[in-house]
Amino acid sequence: MKETRMEITYRIRLCKACGMCSKSCPAQINIPEALGIYKEYQAGDMEILEKLDEMESPGKPVDCIECGACSAKCS
Ligand code: SF4
Ligand code: SF4
Repeated sequence: MKETRMEITYRIRLCKACGMCSKSCPAQINIPEALGIYKEYQAGDMEILEKLDEMESPGKPVDCIECGACSAKCS
């Protein structure tokens, strides 16, 4: 099931960067790193989204296929 904007915002705030979600991501996205960048964006840093393209993980947020595996892993 696709998450609502409010659910995603909630997940960003609560993320403890445990990395469990990334282990199940078929797109190999460093999800906690991406969430950290979005957190700074939500705090008002409009320039920081450029860092999404500089992430070192093989996958970037743009590669997300919305499979939902990450949500299932996050407690
Ligand atoms: S599983 Fe949840 S808490 Fe852990 S890194 Fe992923 S989003 Fe953050
Ligand atoms: S929805 Fe699937 S592809 Fe997208 S970040 Fe989560 S696990 Fe990765």
